Amino acid sequence: MSVEPLTVEPKSVAPEPAGHLLVDAPPVAAPVPAPVPAARRPRGNPPWVLLYHSVAEDPYHITVSPGRLDRQLRWLRDRGLRGVSVDALLRSRAAGRGTGLVGLTFDDGYADFLSDALPLLRRHDCTATVFVMPGRAGGDNAWDPLGPRKPLLTEDGIRAVADAGMEIGSHGLLHQDLTTADGVTLVRETAVSRALLTELTGRAPEGFCYPYGAVDTRAVEAVRGAGYGYACAIDPGPLTGLLALPRVHIGAADTSWRLHLKRLLHPLRRRPLPEESTPTTSTADPAAGGTL
Ligand SMILES: [Zn+2]
Repeated sequence: MSVEPLTVEPKSVAPEPAGHLLVDAPPVAAPVPAPVPAARRPRGNPPWVLLYHSVAEDPYHITVSPGRLDRQLRWLRDRGLRGVSVDALLRSRAAGRGTGLVGLTFDDGYADFLSDALPLLRRHDCTATVFVMPGRAGGDNAWDPLGPRKPLLTEDGIRAVADAGMEIGSHGLLHQDLTTADGVTLVRETAVSRALLTELTGRAPEGFCYPYGAVDTRAVEAVRGAGYGYACAIDPGPLTGLLALPRVHIGAADTSWRLHLKRLLHPLRRRPLPEESTPTTSTADPAAGGTL
């Protein structure tokens, strides 16, 4: 049996695998570490939150095929785990019911979420969070200079995803790096995108996702000021917390034994959340029910 090498995820703010052309830009400057307040006590392992982008058949293997996603979700279910939206995961953890839940996130809001990922999530009784950009609805991944063009969800598509019981979060307005953004851009990417998604779906998004995984203290404060209850990063290091949640990239090469290793290594590679709390602005996600 051939064994694929395990790619160790780099400890940077943008640890996407090399050659992952759909994903974002080159690594950005490391964030300025923020001191963790002494009053905040580490509590438990960081939640395991998986990071996907596009789900499609792809000769370049830079996306996860529907067949691979199907096997990855089956792998979770076979181990008594269930993928849920991040909002549901955090609420369940805050209520002491998070055991067995894994966060599933899909960045950028590719149109294939609706056609390819959603049926598989339903088959395995999972939910997920889809981070979209209202300023690019119906467009494509134009921010990526190298990757093949992939269509993004239209406004109707975003509504359909929300109506299907998935969580919609903001990935900014236009996929801007917040660590290099001026003040006006910061507000536009965080607060304006949240207002537009509220208008679009009828519900204020609870979650934000930093484009390129790039986060610093200024970006965290902008996200907090815009009213989000949580935010996803990739490897936020000292900034780790409810507004900078670590995630693990899951790719086409992640077969069962690699998933097993990533799960085992996650608490070693990522810091625990400094404190457990529940998002504050929206009502409970119905997907939080039925925890294992
Ligand atoms: Zn992105």
